[in-house]
Amino acid sequence: MTFDSLNPATGEVVGTHPQHDAEAVGLAVARAEQAAAWWAELGAGERRRRLLDYKAIVTQNLRPLAELVHQETGKPRGDAVLEIVLTITHLDWAARNAEKVLGRRRVATGLIGLNLAATLEYLPLGVVGVIGPWNYPVFTPMGSISYALAAGNAVVFKPSELTPGCGVRLAELFAQAVPEHPVLQTITGLGETGAALAGDPRVKKVAFTGSTATAKRVMAACARNLTPIVAECGGKDAFIVDADADLRAAADACLWGALSNAGQTCVGVERVYVVDQVYEPFMRELKELASTVKAGEHYGPITMPAQLDIIRRHIEDAVKTGKAVKGGPESVRAPYVDPVIVEDVPEDSAAVREETFGPTITVRRTRDAKEALELANASAYGLGGTVFSRDTRGAMRLARLMRSGATAINSVISFAGVPSLPFGGVGDSGFGRIHGADGLREFARPKAIARQRFALPGMNLTSFSRAPGELERLIRMVTILHGRRKR
Ligand code: NDP
Repeated sequence: MTFDSLNPATGEVVGTHPQHDAEAVGLAVARAEQAAAWWAELGAGERRRRLLDYKAIVTQNLRPLAELVHQETGKPRGDAVLEIVLTITHLDWAARNAEKVLGRRRVATGLIGLNLAATLEYLPLGVVGVIGPWNYPVFTPMGSISYALAAGNAVVFKPSELTPGCGVRLAELFAQAVPEHPVLQTITGLGETGAALAGDPRVKKVAFTGSTATAKRVMAACARNLTPIVAECGGKDAFIVDADADLRAAADACLWGALSNAGQTCVGVERVYVVDQVYEPFMRELKELASTVKAGEHYGPITMPAQLDIIRRHIEDAVKTGKAVKGGPESVRAPYVDPVIVEDVPEDSAAVREETFGPTITVRRTRDAKEALELANASAYGLGGTVFSRDTRGAMRLARLMRSGATAINSVISFAGVPSLPFGGVGDSGFGRIHGADGLREFARPKAIARQRFALPGMNLTSFSRAPGELERLIRMVTILHGRRKR
């Protein structure tokens, strides 16, 4: 059985791919187990060399890969290029930093462990299953794949059924750098293919990106084998404009964060909170700039046809009580959606509570930054967010108090492009982290070793031959070390 991937802008068939069933998935996982043993044995230095080679091959193929992303998602070629460039920087960081982050190191033992030498290292898990989305079909799955490979694992990747070609190409390019074993395999198919991967007991961790509802299903499949998962499930990110913000820059960033990729970005701007003092001038800037952005020119179509219904429902819901500043239900003209800005939408409406994943925003006036933060935090999601303010200390304070995995100040989504920063959410946005040192550790298991270097005279504590005096000495010692209260 096969299925087609379609260009969402034209409806043309981009490619035809096999629908891998549970048996085919099982075979891929079996191959991956063997490849994982070989890859782990290869050692960190050789893995780094191979991954940097993979990076060079991806870079050499930037244009054709961007073309494929453009065809499968409909996004402009420039955006596809940007996505791949960011992927390359992450792959580079993961390859170069894996040994430093995960390699064996001595750790302090404390006074009671004076006679011990302690080492810590992070070992590969084996086979990692990656289930990817369609909105950034290279950048997002590679955020897991690069880090999992660098940590010494083999990966079986199930791309979204909307963007299978990108997944297949990523594995083909990898095989040019690592021809010996299938360390990265792509298995194409529909939801059942992903379910078979998640349910395979030989998969030692699943990295999932997609909706919260599907994450729960994947987690349930993983629960049968106690397989841990990383879940990256989208969000409803807030954008706070404080009284001292550069309003032109804020409006520009807000629009790009909301409309680029047609709003199909897990850390896209969906809710905007503007303090009363600057509300009118900010809205003037926002409206003026929004009038220059066109669907089909600055951003592409809605990639997943079913999403159009959700976007339409949210717009209809928003304009019922809110005031449309730009666009409205008529902005949905499949497969495109023109920019929509609605103000004064009740906080309990679907347009404010649920992930829209479209080029729409709701804007609300707040008394002050404190109220903006309270409203921003009153969401089941908590992935990213933005603060615009010229006061660095104030902005840092707001950013730290924002209930999300990451916050950008005076820029949007900037955290995702910093490879050393972890990426992931709280609440309905999921858990676990990709990117950065935490992203490497996510795909490894800590291994702790304590080696006794010599016997401590008179402190034979872990033996049945322990003398009462030894225990007394221990009590005296622990009292000196820990018994004093500090005020
Ligand atoms: P899903 O969560 O359904 O799909 C994400 C991935 O999971 C796809 O590869 C999908 O495969 C796979 N999958 C589906 N069902 C299962 C299953 N039972 N077991 C294992 N894997 C499975 O997202 P959709 O693509 O349907 O999009 C729905 C919504 O999710 C969007 O409207 C958006 O709100 C959100 N989303 C968030 C993303 C983010 O970046 N966090 C990315 C994409 C979507 P297949 O494609 O073959 O069904």
